[in-house]
Amino acid sequence: MLTQDEKPFAVPDFIQGSKKNLIGGKWIEAASGRQIDTVNPATGQVLCRIAGGDATDVDRAVSAARQAFEGEWSRWTPHQRRKLILKIHDIVLDHFDELALIETLDMGAPLSRTTGLAEWTSQVLQFFASQCDAATVAAPPNSLPGDFLTLKSLAPVGVVGGIIPWNGPLIGLWWIFGPALATGCTAVLKPAEDASLSVLRVAELMMEAGVPDGVINVVTGYGADAGQALAEHRDVDRIAFTGSIGTAQTIVRASAGNLKRLQLELGGKSPDIVFADADLDKAVPGAAMGVFTNSGQVCVAGTRIFVQRSIHDEFVERMTEFTKTIRVGDGLDPNTQLGPLISERQLERVMHYIDLGGGEGAQLASGGNRLGGELASGYFVEPTVFSGASNDMTIAREEIFGPVASVIPFDDMDDALQLANDTPFGLAGGVWTRSLSTAHKVSQNIKAGTIWVNCYGVLDPAIGFGGTKMSGYGWKGAREHVEGYLYPKAVYINL
Ligand code: NAD
Repeated sequence: MLTQDEKPFAVPDFIQGSKKNLIGGKWIEAASGRQIDTVNPATGQVLCRIAGGDATDVDRAVSAARQAFEGEWSRWTPHQRRKLILKIHDIVLDHFDELALIETLDMGAPLSRTTGLAEWTSQVLQFFASQCDAATVAAPPNSLPGDFLTLKSLAPVGVVGGIIPWNGPLIGLWWIFGPALATGCTAVLKPAEDASLSVLRVAELMMEAGVPDGVINVVTGYGADAGQALAEHRDVDRIAFTGSIGTAQTIVRASAGNLKRLQLELGGKSPDIVFADADLDKAVPGAAMGVFTNSGQVCVAGTRIFVQRSIHDEFVERMTEFTKTIRVGDGLDPNTQLGPLISERQLERVMHYIDLGGGEGAQLASGGNRLGGELASGYFVEPTVFSGASNDMTIAREEIFGPVASVIPFDDMDDALQLANDTPFGLAGGVWTRSLSTAHKVSQNIKAGTIWVNCYGVLDPAIGFGGTKMSGYGWKGAREHVEGYLYPKAVYINL
């Protein structure tokens, strides 16, 4: 690991003291005065404190968002909103080195990953800028007797509550603010208590770019306090939630009071299927990084790697070799490929699953340990490969959200599909093959929202991704996402 003197950066000024909530254009402490320590997972040290918001802060933020929604903002033209998003794009990209550093310090992902998000951020903002005319009015012909003009339009739903997890705040925040700005909605965002800093800094930059007061608001705090209050609030029209299934179920119940619209993007246990005819030079690193990227803290991680029996042993051997070359360390080191897990709690959870895998009879082909030495104070786990796993083991059924892969053999395509679909989740999946026919058949028959063929995890905001089954509903990116922030409206005019 690099020493402090060797590190090619200075800790941003932003990471100091106590951060406040953004409510109605002002930075305000939590009404309760409560604060939460925010910890660098690479060192276990406290970086700074964020506001411990609760129902009072959420109520203030929702009022500010409602006032903004009904005020001047509602008269902004699509062209004005597009210009605003493009201005945000420029300011955010100008500050991206700082944002990447904040994200790395706050949630552990290596700089090699967080700086790489600049290009994606540019794409996502340009995509939402292109969607500002989504509410365009059309006058379709009608079949009514008499002389009628019918108008169809889409109107913004109102105040949107966004609740996002810690595994990629610099990605998650745009899935809320992007469509809100494009459609003329307003938003209250509750980032995860473990990683709120980059969201707060982006919100500051967005205000600098000229977002009107109250159009975006950020309330930090624990899920049971601020998150629950947002989900319950009667003046929130839509909740866009990304997180775990258990929390989603709580949110569904909490949102029933005013029948909020819901978008739920949840977890997965995605299958990645490697056929005997696959190009293993690509499939081995592709499938490995499909699980290990972001230290496995990725909703679409291809954690169940099904390998055709005839190449199973060779695949395991090559994956094990590849896994041993992955550099795990402090994300500030430019050579690091995998950083720490987000928290001690998550580390314990992942180690528990690793113990369980061994106990259930899977063989540890690689990894399996917490890293010590100079990394001992952080939450580092070796990338871990289990071979000889079966689809009914706990490690193959539950989302671990850590760098743990289970390699499971299969015989033929039917067998692979049966195993792949034998899961309550339906978020994503992958297939590695040289056969066009196999690629088509498998991708059509995996019951999941997003399938990658001979690649894993690529994402174009204009195409988007989403899940089915217990992985939730709603679509991130593309026109479908934007339309979720709008409701259809018909006007019948008797001429
Ligand atoms: P989590 O459900 O514990 O927390 C997510 C967010 O919900 C946090 O902001 C948290 O504070 C908040 N929250 C917690 N309890 C709440 C409550 N009672 N009411 C309202 N909000 C509450 O999830 P996590 O462990 O932080 O994140 C990991 C999960 O997120 C994994 O399951 C992962 O697969 C999923 N995820 C899904 C996607 C996707 O797009 N499908 C993307 C990233 C992560």
